[in-house]
Amino acid sequence: MIKNDPNPEYLAASNRYENMSYRRCGKSGLKLPALSLGLWQNFGAVDSPQIAQNMLHRAFDLGINHFDLANNYGPPFGSAESTFGRVMAKSFKPYRDEMLISSKAGYDMWAGPYGIGGSRKYLIASCDQSLKRTGLDYFDVFYSHCYDPNTPLEETMQALDYIVRSGRALYAGVSSYSPVHTKQAIRILQDLGTPMLIHQPSYNMFDRWIEDGLTDVLLEEGVGSIVFSPLAQGFLTNKYLKGVPKDSRASRSEQIYLTEDNISQEKVAKVIQLNALAEQRGQSLAQMAVAWVLNNQAVTSAIIGASKVSQIEDCVAALNNLEFNQQELIHIDNILGK
Ligand code: NDP
Repeated sequence: MIKNDPNPEYLAASNRYENMSYRRCGKSGLKLPALSLGLWQNFGAVDSPQIAQNMLHRAFDLGINHFDLANNYGPPFGSAESTFGRVMAKSFKPYRDEMLISSKAGYDMWAGPYGIGGSRKYLIASCDQSLKRTGLDYFDVFYSHCYDPNTPLEETMQALDYIVRSGRALYAGVSSYSPVHTKQAIRILQDLGTPMLIHQPSYNMFDRWIEDGLTDVLLEEGVGSIVFSPLAQGFLTNKYLKGVPKDSRASRSEQIYLTEDNISQEKVAKVIQLNALAEQRGQSLAQMAVAWVLNNQAVTSAIIGASKVSQIEDCVAALNNLEFNQQELIHIDNILGK
């Protein structure tokens, strides 16, 4: 039984650590929940604050103690961090030390040359803005969101090192870096004395680029990974089997990363076969998709997104069956044409 001071707004479930598994991040001392929750979409100023708060509370009650942010999550940019900051102030504060909260800078955030890229100027200013919006004293992990070919990698890594040394973050990470740039970044950070904790790449059954070199680098170097879009933004679920539902990401107009055009007949045919296999395994397709990414030994955690509490509950239930036999894995590769 975990005791916390009674909080009128929210009292976390006392059994919150009973079902989640916590996996060591590379060779660090830090463990991450097998499932993390990302606030890229559905937590912006255009979204319902009540649903956002309910999802955060339910996730934490289910053992998801890692929340992933970035400066530009919304829309508009910055508003997901503000949403999180309000929940933190209102109800999560007593639990801050039980949580891992990350943010990032790299993509477009504000006008002019210092609001994008990998410069020291941008990363540090952006980290300070993110801390203000969330109301936090520090982030657990701060990431370079993407490699910037126009900034020396040394400068970007020195900025991460400084962010850690100045107490703005506890650990440093990179996102979407190629295997070569990852290796270089690991070396630079090692020399600076701030080891790279984690890499955040995309990974799901339709997007397997990390298998071509990145996972080898991460395993060799003892760096963990937290993979984003494990459900291919919702496509690897049962929701698009019969067209594009009105309340789905693919039908939204504010964010255009998954469009109706991405949902081709050919891909839907594969999803239908994957869905049949998930049913045979006694799982939803979302659960099988989560289990599949966690089956890669280089993967520490999967960051899901959600628009409803029930989706978080469904994904967490994936933990009841993470095992695949060889035949199932081959069948999945065959469906995907691998
Ligand atoms: P997912 O692949 O998990 O997609 C989430 C979407 O899938 C939800 O919004 C919902 O779609 C649908 N969904 C989730 N669970 C279920 C379910 N059980 N059944 C049916 N549908 C479901 O991840 P995201 O693409 O949202 O990315 C997750 C996080 O990863 C982000 O929030 C962010 O933190 C991080 N990320 C990082 C990036 C980077 O560059 N580092 C880039 C992108 C993401 P719907 O809204 O249609 O209901």
